[in-house]
Amino acid sequence: MRIAIIGTGYVGLPSGVGFAELGNLVTCIDRDVNKIKALNEGKVTLYEDGLEELFHKNVQAGRLKFTNSMQEGIQSADLVIIAVGTPPHPVTHEADLKYIHAAATELADFLNGYTVIATKSTVPVSTGDAIETLIKKKNPKADFDVISLPEFLREGYAVHDFFHPDRIIVGANSQRAKDLIKKLYKSYEGKTNFLFVKRRSSETIKYASNAFLAVKIHYINEMANFCEKAGADITEVAKGMGLDKRIGEKFLNPGPGYGGSCFPKDTMAMSFMAKQNNIKMSLIDATIEGNQKRKEEMARRIMSAVKYINSPKIAVWGLSFKEGTDDCRESPAMQIVQELIEHKADITAFDPKAMDTAKLLIGDRLKYANSALDAASNADVLAILTEWPEFRNIDLQKLSKVMKTKIIVDCRNAIKRADAENYGFSYEGIGL
Ligand code: NAD
Repeated sequence: MRIAIIGTGYVGLPSGVGFAELGNLVTCIDRDVNKIKALNEGKVTLYEDGLEELFHKNVQAGRLKFTNSMQEGIQSADLVIIAVGTPPHPVTHEADLKYIHAAATELADFLNGYTVIATKSTVPVSTGDAIETLIKKKNPKADFDVISLPEFLREGYAVHDFFHPDRIIVGANSQRAKDLIKKLYKSYEGKTNFLFVKRRSSETIKYASNAFLAVKIHYINEMANFCEKAGADITEVAKGMGLDKRIGEKFLNPGPGYGGSCFPKDTMAMSFMAKQNNIKMSLIDATIEGNQKRKEEMARRIMSAVKYINSPKIAVWGLSFKEGTDDCRESPAMQIVQELIEHKADITAFDPKAMDTAKLLIGDRLKYANSALDAASNADVLAILTEWPEFRNIDLQKLSKVMKTKIIVDCRNAIKRADAENYGFSYEGIGL
């Protein structure tokens, strides 16, 4: 199958590589000239485990191409996947559809023969209708169907999730489009769950899922606050809860709040859509507010741990929004660092993969170290903000030797309290 993917970011690039690996001929289109130049020079523009190897393999096999030209990608495609960003509108916080509308308008002229246009971007209910109308207006003769094909990959596991998804949701109102998607995913039959639904249901499933996961994270964070006061241990409580299959063990890790390019914007977009439809979604609204406060509270905890120290030096471990990715968009770590900067703190940070993306967002308002131990060198407090394995497995003896004052505020419960105390650290975790 010939596939064009519009948008070569955290969704578009792993999907393009994945579909090429399945044997399809894929052209990834992006309006970003530098990104396409880098990809054509063989530089993978984002970090995902296992992506680089498959990228080179498929480029060499001639199955994966990159271009800035809409025409080049669209004219021969059987399937066009839209994977452009849907960031929050700066004022209303609804999903801003300007990139979606631009992509739909730009692709319309180049459709050639029957084509399925699948929206992988997370889009509000009825966006499929709007895309269809835009294309029909621009190119009344085009033979096409617009479907919703929401993406559920987890950043950090994008390649794994492409080949082993929990489910494939297809929102299609036409049999021809359903048949093409069945062909696309033929090798997944019997290995994953397929659900064919109305286009509007599919668009809703994506928001309903992300909002639910955000609520779950907020819930366990509030329960962690309770454990701290009540003398309970959240790790034991979460384990006990998770053994109930109705609850499930996933997403019960307390931390500094959810972040990333999806949950914050998708909860806000869901709240906006609810209000548009005169529906009150108080759980989601409480989650959005609570999650914002959570990051402020984490910064307060870090500052309070060094309140008796003059001009304290703060070491920060982790800048990406979670381990396994270099993505710092809406990262709780970055927001906590911003708060610390406002407190005029002297910060040195380290992240194994996200230093470059962090620098683009926050610049030189903090110092960057070359290793975890370098960042901690001479520090009065160590704040662990992203749970990278190398932080979990740090040599505590070495750490205790390089720090000036041995205080750890562990916002991810990455290190065991007993281990830290063994090496003379004062240790503060979450919900313990
Ligand atoms: P991204 O910002 O990483 O990538 C989007 C890309 O689209 C950019 O490279 C941009 O230059 C390009 N683009 C924008 N308009 C274009 C146009 N008209 N023509 C060509 N290229 C264009 O975004 P992302 O993280 O990949 O997310 C894309 C969508 O997928 C969003 O709706 C997001 O909510 C959804 N999603 C993201 C994830 C995730 O983990 N990142 C997971 C599931 C769903």
